[in-house]
Amino acid sequence: MEKASKQERREKVITVLNQARAMELQAISQYMNQHYDMDYGELAGKIKLIAIDEMRHAEMFAERVKEIGGEPVTGYDGKIAKGQPVDKIFSHDSVLEDDTIDTYNQFALVCRENGDSISMKIFEDIIEEEQIHFNYFDSVQEHIEKLGDNYLAKIAGTSSSTGLGNSGFAVTGDGV
Ligand code: FE
Ligand code: FE
Repeated sequence: MEKASKQERREKVITVLNQARAMELQAISQYMNQHYDMDYGELAGKIKLIAIDEMRHAEMFAERVKEIGGEPVTGYDGKIAKGQPVDKIFSHDSVLEDDTIDTYNQFALVCRENGDSISMKIFEDIIEEEQIHFNYFDSVQEHIEKLGDNYLAKIAGTSSSTGLGNSGFAVTGDGV
């Protein structure tokens, strides 16, 4: 079997970095939309911060694409869910994060197989933050299922303010 050239291997890495970037851009739009839509104080505030994390991820992928000679994508293919009831938002988002973790693990392997340990590490660092997002969405979903309206009524009175610092929800590693 003929060995792939450096350029061919690089292209494969650029492809997965750009697919991941498109997923991040979609997540940003989805979470921003939910944040505007939602009437539930601190839950809306947390989703706003999570959207800021996804923006940081989108930038990390773009910077790496540039660094290895590619052109970062600027769009996404999927649709944004709108007007979801609050009891659907968190199950929807936890599935989104869980699928993202699974996909990024496969993309990290593609980077490794093609000899790019820096891109692999970017995926690994971002996976850690997606896991934090998943855990948050999943625990809110559990509260909604167990406590229902009592929980939501309590949350409805809280503030959606995220303060002046907007550094995001899950800041790990040094990719900031
Ligand atoms: Fe992300
Ligand atoms: Fe996420």
